Amino acid sequence: MEYNDFPCTACGQCCKNVHKSEKTSYLNRGDGTCRHFDEDTLLCTIYKNRPLVCRVEDYYNKYLTHIYDWDGFVKMNLEVCEQLQKQSN
Ligand code: SF4
Repeated sequence: MEYNDFPCTACGQCCKNVHKSEKTSYLNRGDGTCRHFDEDTLLCTIYKNRPLVCRVEDYYNKYLTHIYDWDGFVKMNLEVCEQLQKQSN
């Protein structure tokens, strides 16, 4: 399937809110932030080996192609990104 990559701005908000999803809560270091998140760089310290749930395109391809089209899925995710960014301000 051909699609554009997810337009991630690397704001780090998804990694700072892992407690909000049952699929990522196991990564919580105790304050809602992932234990693999580097607060100084806003980068993932295990990026190349990060879990599937953190790989937007791969997760979509494995589990969600029959439920959403890619553009709709991106739109839905960007709405969550926006909510998380607003809450952090
Ligand atoms: S594993 Fe990496 S990409 Fe996934 S939530 Fe943690 S810091 Fe973010």
